[in-house]
Amino acid sequence: MVQPSREQREGLEQLRLRVISVLETMDTFALTDTRELLTVPLGLLRKSATQRHGVTRWIRADDGNLKVEVVELHPRLFDEAWGDYGAFVLFHEFLHVLGFRAHDRTFRALEAQWPNRTAAGMGQSFTHAMRLGRARWLWYCPSCEESYPRQRKSNGKFQCRKCRKLLEDRPM
Ligand SMILES: [Zn+2]
Ligand SMILES: [Zn+2]
Repeated sequence: MVQPSREQREGLEQLRLRVISVLETMDTFALTDTRELLTVPLGLLRKSATQRHGVTRWIRADDGNLKVEVVELHPRLFDEAWGDYGAFVLFHEFLHVLGFRAHDRTFRALEAQWPNRTAAGMGQSFTHAMRLGRARWLWYCPSCEESYPRQRKSNGKFQCRKCRKLLEDRPM
């Protein structure tokens, strides 16, 4: 488990209050008891995580029921540029905390009600930006000029997602 700095701790708590205040304006959650959201422990994912931006971890309590141990968020979600997306990610995790454990249709329908639709669609950009920050190689498509930042070389094993041409390795 990553220990948050004082600044990150503040970032987590600010995001918590922001998400709860939005949630309380949404009709769907008008009758929802949000107290657990105020007390659930918040923590950090490792900054090396690129595909996972938030996670809700569960433990089995003495009574045999699963309870939330911690909600962890990617530390870069507190950057100003990613704040709106951070709120959406925490909203997603809060749905888990509220008892919607699986990513089923009910879950996706609730998730789709988050008012900031732009933020909801920022997941791929965030993954891309995090990969770019860690990348040592660009897998480059000589045909459409798309590039894929990665930590390792592609060694002629991967094709462009768009045009299926073999990608070339270029150092960053
Ligand atoms: Zn989830
Ligand atoms: Zn291409």
